[in-house]
Amino acid sequence: MLNNSSEIAQQLLAFGKTILGEVLFPTVIPEASGLVATDPYAFTIAVCLNRGMKTEIIWTIPYDIQQELGHLNPKLIYRMSLKELGSLFSRLPRRPRYINDAPRTLQELTRIVVEECDGDAANIWKGKRAAEVNRTFISIHGVGTGIANMGVLLIATGFGVPFSNSDRKHMDIKPDAHTKRVLYRLGISEEETEEAAITATRMLHPEFPGELDGALWEIGREWCFASNPDCANCIMRSSCSRRL
Ligand code: SF4
Repeated sequence: MLNNSSEIAQQLLAFGKTILGEVLFPTVIPEASGLVATDPYAFTIAVCLNRGMKTEIIWTIPYDIQQELGHLNPKLIYRMSLKELGSLFSRLPRRPRYINDAPRTLQELTRIVVEECDGDAANIWKGKRAAEVNRTFISIHGVGTGIANMGVLLIATGFGVPFSNSDRKHMDIKPDAHTKRVLYRLGISEEETEEAAITATRMLHPEFPGELDGALWEIGREWCFASNPDCANCIMRSSCSRRL
């Protein structure tokens, strides 16, 4: 770990606090971002359908569903058959990658929201431990461990849900191309790999490693490009090792 690692951690945490929901939930249509940032059902739909797609598309799909149906009411969607849900997805301007699995995923999520959460998707996490929320996501058709972890992390960072300290210690970043690259270039991780990124962030911010995720991701998108990074304007320019 670098001598200035605590300075880097503080910079990342401070920057992370300035990131708005619109940045955490980038969408093709601006209004769509507000929907997933404020409507727990819209948010969980995007999380559960998030498989091998561009981030901007997946966060826009709940908005597309709302536009197509004229509502995003889980109690009404609960009454739709698998065939009707399949037809709904086929009419969307942007579709989930695994279009054949999507109706079942939405049906199973909606069943949980209506039957177990009194129609309010926020009850998936209200008063729950992170591991319970994780298990709920994984129980839904097509949702794997990585996506479930990402969902729980976003509930903590995007919705500000205060999971316990013992939960937060076990919440890692979701290593993607941006976060891996930025951590390596900063001099925090030893390799540009998922394992190195997770190990490095656990050492850098052991209380809540995943809290660094948003800042790292946004730095990768905004300044630390794969080629020709914009170091002159990057917020990390004073502390970065610039391992390019
Ligand atoms: S200073 Fe340059 S290398 Fe370092 S994080 Fe910023 S853009 Fe990347």
